[in-house]
Formats: sequence, structure tokens, C-alpha cells
Amino acid sequence: MTNLLTDDTISASSTFGSVAVEGAIARALAAMRYSEPTPIQEQAIPPLRAGRDVLGQAQTGTGKTAGFAIPLIEMVDTGSRKTQAIVLVPTRELCLQVTNEMTRLGQYSGVRVAAVYGGVGLGRQIDALTRGVHLVVGTPGRVEDLLQRGSLRLDGVRVAILDEADRMLDVGFLPAIERILKRTPHARQTALFSATLPDDVRGLAQRHMRDPITVAVDPERATVDEIEQRFERVPDGDKLSALHAHLEDPACFLALVFRRTTYKADRLARDLSRQGHHVAVLHGRRSQSQRERVLSDLKACKVQVLVATDIAARGLDIPGLTHVFNYDLPDTPETYVHRIGRTGRAGETGTAITLIGPEDEAGRKAIERYLAQRRLGHNAASQSRPSPRPQKARNGQARRPNRNPAPLRHRDRQLNAS
Ligand code: AMP
Repeated sequence: MTNLLTDDTISASSTFGSVAVEGAIARALAAMRYSEPTPIQEQAIPPLRAGRDVLGQAQTGTGKTAGFAIPLIEMVDTGSRKTQAIVLVPTRELCLQVTNEMTRLGQYSGVRVAAVYGGVGLGRQIDALTRGVHLVVGTPGRVEDLLQRGSLRLDGVRVAILDEADRMLDVGFLPAIERILKRTPHARQTALFSATLPDDVRGLAQRHMRDPITVAVDPERATVDEIEQRFERVPDGDKLSALHAHLEDPACFLALVFRRTTYKADRLARDLSRQGHHVAVLHGRRSQSQRERVLSDLKACKVQVLVATDIAARGLDIPGLTHVFNYDLPDTPETYVHRIGRTGRAGETGTAITLIGPEDEAGRKAIERYLAQRRLGHNAASQSRPSPRPQKARNGQARRPNRNPAPLRHRDRQLNAS
């Protein structure tokens, strides 16, 4: 695959930590106040630029989007109206987030980016595609729909990115992904990012990638390590008042509260509103426009508490989120890690508080066991490879000051229930 980032463009570059970036991207990075690459960016950008296929083990929150977006933007031929790269993502929210990040990174590069996702009318998306879009970010169902209608063509695609591949396969997108990849040229470059690499994801990589280079960031460090975790025992029926007390704490600027069902999420949102909190709720029964309204209210700081179910919170990136509360325990310990990873993103700190009622003790123990195993695995892994460079605190990310700069690490606390 041709790599359009020539030596000439590199020579007109400035640096982004250890990664050289050309002028337009450097300006965008400065505007976004990204002063240094995250570990996944350091690892993924050079091989992607070199035209290699990349298999990246990284979760949302590690900065992986810019890790693939920077090389994509660099390789776009802005003189052409053709779609030159396709990014497939599992959810509408992630689709909008990735599009937003790529648009910001490409703001001085003349690159046109479009999001195509289901649950909304086709008209606007078709109009955008008709005008000519260089980079398309889409959910597999809508991408197929647009392909079938002839509104989207992938014959000019040079790079395909499969983002959060494990989640895409979880929700049954494998056949659609395979059909979409068949519509792209065989000689394309492919990158796959996934938090986990189960067999079906590896199989997908084997079938569609050429000699991929594997890059990984330590998921423990990327999510859990930056987060202060507390397990708080509360008497039966007292979770609401315990949560209320935490939300009154001035350090709690923006909180995400997890509930297990849509009904419970609605009920809690109602109760918290009655207590005077600014609350929004996100669950599977909310329409697309309601979801978008919630996300924009969060960005505009109109909301202090978001109550959500697990499905609704998938792929959500809420800058400045200071606290995650597990009001109900998650179904699995893996979901616990996913939930708390909504805070402590890209080097920020965060607090995760799990309210433990009498019925939650068994679940708490399962989570502790799981975290202890992860720690063991993590320690073994970090002995066998150099540990990533420590990340400096990033400015400009959190919309609100983080008044909790030095949290106790969960290792120090050993997750003792308080
Ligand atoms: P991602 O994993 O791509 O969803 O990114 C997680 C968050 O980190 C997003 O809010 C990004 O805007 C932010 N981010 C990504 N790269 C950097 C960087 N190099 N410096 C500061 N923040 C970053």
C-alpha cells in the first residue's frame, strides 16, 4: 500500500512527543492540547504509516482513535473525492465520537469525514456521501445499507479499520463486516483494534489481515490503574441516600451511575431529580435524538449525573467524568472493569465507588478475585516487557478541574471494603 507521508512532508513537521507529525496535524494537536502521544499512539502510528496491518489490543480511553486517525488523515488524497478509508464501529455513540475526533484532528488538513449510523434517516448521510467524503466512519448495518443503495462506494478504500472488534462480533456484526471488507480492494491496509482478542476476533484478523504487527497497551494501566476504587457497604435500602451524599461532595463534578435495568435507571433518575440533582438518563429505550441531546447536555455541563444501563454506556467517552458509581453490581467482573474505565481516561484520574448492599457480597468477592488475577497477570506481563513510558498529566481534556489529583491506587488500597 502506498504511504503518502513522504520524507518531504515529515521534514516540514513538528514533534508530538516521540512521533513526528506534519504541519496541519501538528496544528490540530496543538488546538486540541494533545502535547504527547499516549502509549497506543506511540506504538500504532509508526507501523500504520509504514503501511503495515496492525492488530491493536487497546480499549476506548487509551487514545486509540487518534492512533489510527492521524495516519489516516495523513494518507488522504484531498484532490480526490473518493472514500479512501472506512472505519467500522459497533455503536452510534462510538461512531459519533470517532468522527468527532477525526474531524478535529483533520480540521486543517482539508479532509472530509462523515458518520453513517442507523436509527436516523438516510437523507443527510446520503447527501454527505454524494458531496464526496474521504473518511467514512460507520456502523456495519448502515454501511451495508448505503452500499446496497449505491450511495457509498468502497472501491477507492486503501485502509479499513475495525474498531472495538470484540464488541462488533458480540452483537453479531461478523457477517456484515466480512461482506463490507469484500467490497474494498484486496490490496488495502487493515487495522483492527479490540479490548480483548478472543478466538473469533483472531479468526477475523487471520482471514483479512496480512502479517499484522501486534501492538498492545496494558489494559490494567489504561483503565484501572488510574482509578481510585472503593467498595462501600451500605445498609439494606440505603443506597439512594449514600449516593446523594457522594453527589453533594464538591469533588464530584460529573458522575455516571450504573443501573441494571431501564426501569431502575428511570426510577433512580426520578429520585435524584427530586433531590435537586441535574440528571440525565441513557438506556436502550431512549430514541437516537434523546441520546444525542443527553450527550450534548453533558458536554455543555448542563448535567451533573448521568444514570445509564451497561448497553447504553457502551463506547461512551465523557471527558471530565470524575466519578463512576455502581449502584447495582454489574453482571460480570469484566463489565465492572468496563464500567469504571469510563473515568480515568487517557491519563486523567477518576473515582469508582461501588455501593454494596447485603445482597451484593458474593458479587463483590467475584470482582475482587478477578481484579487480583488481572494484577497477577499484569505483573507477570510487565516483567517480560519494558513498561510503557509514564504518561504526563494532560491539560485541556477535562472540562472541569480535577480536584482529585492524587488518588490512592487500587493496589495500595487492596480493595478493602470500607
Ligand atoms: P479514545 O481511546 O480514542 O476514545 O480516547 C480517549 C480520550 O483521550 C479522548 O477524550 C481523547 O480526546 C483523549 N486523548 C487521545 N489522545 C490524547 C493525547 N495524546 N493527549 C491527550 N488526550 C488524548
